[in-house]
Amino acid sequence: MDSKVVYQLRMLAGACFDCGECTAVCPAILKDHNMTLQGFAYSPELYEECMRCGACTEVCPKGIDGVEIAEKAEEAMQQDA
Ligand code: SF4
Ligand code: SF4
Repeated sequence: MDSKVVYQLRMLAGACFDCGECTAVCPAILKDHNMTLQGFAYSPELYEECMRCGACTEVCPKGIDGVEIAEKAEEAMQQDA
């Protein structure tokens, strides 16, 4: 994976303080893997499991955008293909 894209991806969730709100509302990836958006930013290979519904973004007190993370994770993985 391109280190610049990996860095950008991790920075998107850099303000996460592990409150768990995103995990609680996610209908898919976060709940299935019991992780936060920050965990997602460190597991880009799971990007297809995100429905890009935006529910996580609505509840995150730090305004971290799950859809943006999914898009960046896809970009990271496609560079690898
Ligand atoms: S956008 Fe993705 S990570 Fe966020 S709640 Fe929806 S499925 Fe879960
Ligand atoms: S809701 Fe935001 S701050 Fe809380 S765990 Fe999820 S990404 Fe981190």
